[in-house]
Amino acid sequence: RAKAAGGNRFEIADADSNARVIARHSLTNGLPSALEKGEFFIEYQPLVRLTDGTVRGAEALVRWLHPLHGVLGPDQFIPLAEDTGLIVPLGRWVLEQAARQAREWRDAAEDDASLRVNVNLSPCQLSHPKLVADTVAVLEDAGLCPSALCLEVTENDLIGADETALRPLRQLADLGVDIALDDFGTGYSNLSYLRRLPVSTLKLDRSFTRGMQRAPADPVDVKIVEGIVSLAHTLDLAVTVEGVETAVQAEHLRGLGCDTAQGWYYARPGPPERLHTLALADAN
Ligand code: C2E
Ligand code: MG
Ligand code: MG
Ligand code: MG
Repeated sequence: RAKAAGGNRFEIADADSNARVIARHSLTNGLPSALEKGEFFIEYQPLVRLTDGTVRGAEALVRWLHPLHGVLGPDQFIPLAEDTGLIVPLGRWVLEQAARQAREWRDAAEDDASLRVNVNLSPCQLSHPKLVADTVAVLEDAGLCPSALCLEVTENDLIGADETALRPLRQLADLGVDIALDDFGTGYSNLSYLRRLPVSTLKLDRSFTRGMQRAPADPVDVKIVEGIVSLAHTLDLAVTVEGVETAVQAEHLRGLGCDTAQGWYYARPGPPERLHTLALADAN
């Protein structure tokens, strides 16, 4: 019986991995034409300043409205887009859309010319020879100053990058583009390495803030966040916290000196018009 059960489990696991292979195959096939067919869209998630609760901007998060599978999240297709090279045109498209969107928010807000847009960069984009030229062109086309843009790169994608590999990011930073280190704390963080990176913001991964969703907060998580905030501020870096889901958490993180927060407690990722409403609500 044990053997039969074992056999069964094996079959289930096998069927499961077959389904995954087929799904991966079907997604890979549809990917090259998805961009021209207009199947991608972007949701925006507000970034909120913790001291006063005002909306400072939003992160652009790409989705794929697949004709068969419905809405797919980036975790389901970004790795495929990286493998197939589509990430470069897709990433550029996201950047163009986001820049145009930021222009619209700024025009609509009038008195608030400080709304920013955050865009995620994948490793292929980072090493692409036209990253700087393309980014500058996109900003110019949108009539947006560099400081209206924040590019997010993950800690893992920068590990091992030498000065030559970092040069494009440094050039963008020198132009005034904000560079954020995404999912900070999940990779191997050689802290002295931080000083050499052209980043101005640390985005603390949500694994560190999960233990603060309800009181009492996990004391170890509190100590870790405290330490990171103090280190970041010593290095003149701002701290953004991801995955803030409760009021208790938001209050705690504000108390710990985190600068900006993002999470379901404030808003889920949504259509661009919604940010507009949130930001205007602040102004009143
Ligand atoms: P990320 O940049 O770390 O983005 C944050 C992720 O956390 C998003 O997932 C967001 O929806 C989710 N999130 C936000 N608030 C909360 C919360 O309170 N609780 C929980 N549980 N989750 C929250 P999403 O949209 O599925 O994106 C996943 C990842 O895909 C992103 O992680 C980013 O690395 C990547 N990504 C998204 N858009 C792009 C893109 O245009 N280009 C590239 N290269 N990568 C992208
Ligand atoms: Mg991000
Ligand atoms: Mg992140
Ligand atoms: Mg993340």
